[in-house]
Amino acid sequence: MLHQTRGRITRDNGAAIDALKKRAAEWDVPLTEEASGFCFHVWNSRATLYPDANGVTIEISSPEQRLLQTLQGSLTELFEECLLCPKWDEVAEGALAPGMALMQVASVTRRSPGFTRVRLEGHDAERFGTGSYHFRLLIPRRGRPPCWPRIAASGRTVWPEGDDALHRPCYTTVAYGDNWLEFDIFHHTGSPTSDWVKEDPTGRTVGIIGPGGGACPEGDKLVLFGDETAMPAIIRMLQDAPGEVRAFIKASADNLCELAGDPRVSIVANLTEALAETEFDAGTYVWFAGHADDAKIARTQLLERGMNKRDFTAAAYWS
Ligand SMILES: Cc1cc2nc3c(=O)[nH]c(=O)nc-3n(C[C@H](O)[C@H](O)[C@H](O)COP(=O)(O)OP(=O)(O)OC[C@H]3O[C@@H](n4cnc5c(N)ncnc54)[C@H](O)[C@@H]3O)c2cc1C
Repeated sequence: MLHQTRGRITRDNGAAIDALKKRAAEWDVPLTEEASGFCFHVWNSRATLYPDANGVTIEISSPEQRLLQTLQGSLTELFEECLLCPKWDEVAEGALAPGMALMQVASVTRRSPGFTRVRLEGHDAERFGTGSYHFRLLIPRRGRPPCWPRIAASGRTVWPEGDDALHRPCYTTVAYGDNWLEFDIFHHTGSPTSDWVKEDPTGRTVGIIGPGGGACPEGDKLVLFGDETAMPAIIRMLQDAPGEVRAFIKASADNLCELAGDPRVSIVANLTEALAETEFDAGTYVWFAGHADDAKIARTQLLERGMNKRDFTAAAYWS
């Protein structure tokens, strides 16, 4: 089923089209010019601008309501920056931010010296177990009642600020089932999420928003490189990959958890050196995630080795 909505800007259609073209270039997404309009393609969704003498009509269509609302909010923000205020036929005013779900913390289990597994329960859990692997965990500031992001009358999502601002780190769904999902937190110093989990939040409500950020790359041969923060994604890819997979992980042996003894997994001391030393056949997809500096080095190395951008991921998981 396709979800759709329509909006209207009643002045200066040239400015709206220029803003959309600029956004497409910034995000590196296609903007196609069709017979009567300009079509912006992102998140499996499309927004088409139809200019006329009195303004511009905006039509959005998307396979998922949350993606439609995300694009509606994002375009509202973009056009408001140019002092153009779209009026939408429908706005889910007061609803939780698109893609957000409220979940209960069902359990917190120490799995290894470095990792704690958290189980969340809620009716929306299944959505986070299929498709993209990742979500943002929304943690209210200590001692504050939760104040969740909601859709405003304009169509934009308004995030709480000041003392009510939420901590919003990314995590990876590592296991899921009927009405539950689990994720692993790697502990490090200065981590508000580690502090939150050390307090044992069992029974508390948290928000999660997503899913997003991709899943297992397609292809018969995969080579994965990652540190502890990437381990949950590597666990998923080792389960999901249909073909041959090798994984190089920078972690101590006592933090390998279920990957200990897996013949496809090697522990390495330095991820970018391991990448440089690893040979792979043509047609192999290379996935790399870790510190932002390492991801940058990996991207340069892979391009220098002649790889096409479509055939690798080099992601900054922390900085
Ligand atoms: C798509 C994606 C998926 C991710 N999945 C997971 C996951 O499943 N499990 C997981 O544990 N992490 C995961 N991460 C990484 C996680 O989001 C970051 O480590 C994040 O910084 C954690 O938030 P925080 O509250 O611990 O710290 P923040 O408030 O973000 O940072 C606090 C301080 O900790 C430092 N820091 C952050 N990460 C590390 C680290 N690994 N080692 C040492 N210092 C660090 C920061 O530089 C900063 O100084 C993922 C990241 C991305 C982008």
